[in-house]
Amino acid sequence: MAPEKRGLKAQIRTIAQAVESLRPLVSPGVEEAVRLLDRELAALEEELIEAQGEVVFREKREGLSVAAVRVRCGKPSCRCARGHLHGPYWYAYWRDGRPVSRYIGPCSRISEEEAWWRARAARAGKAVP
Ligand SMILES: [Zn+2]
Repeated sequence: MAPEKRGLKAQIRTIAQAVESLRPLVSPGVEEAVRLLDRELAALEEELIEAQGEVVFREKREGLSVAAVRVRCGKPSCRCARGHLHGPYWYAYWRDGRPVSRYIGPCSRISEEEAWWRARAARAGKAVP
C-alpha cells in the first residue's frame, strides 16, 4: 500500500474511534436537557433585563442583547419613585460564564445602530471613547 493511503487510513481510523467514543455522550436525553437548560437560561436573562425597569426595546443578536430601559434610580424622594422613570437608557447584556450587563448611554443621544456598535465593543473588551 502506498504510504499516502496508509496515512489516510490511519487518520480515518483515529477519527472514527474518536466519534465512537463520543457517541454515547451525545444521547438524545442529553441534547434534550441542554435544549431545556438553554431555554430556561434565555427566559431568566429576559427576566433579568425586565427587572431593571420598564423595557421599551429589546433585541438579541448572536448572544448579545441590547435594550432600551426606563429606570428607577432608587432614591425614595425622586420623581421616579412615583412612576416618572428616568431615561430610556441603552444597556447591553451578554453571558460570560455569568450574566454581564453594561450601561451604554441615553437613547436621546445614542442611536440604536451606535448602541449595537458600543455593545459589541464592550463584549469584546474594547474601550469605547
Ligand atoms: Zn430617580
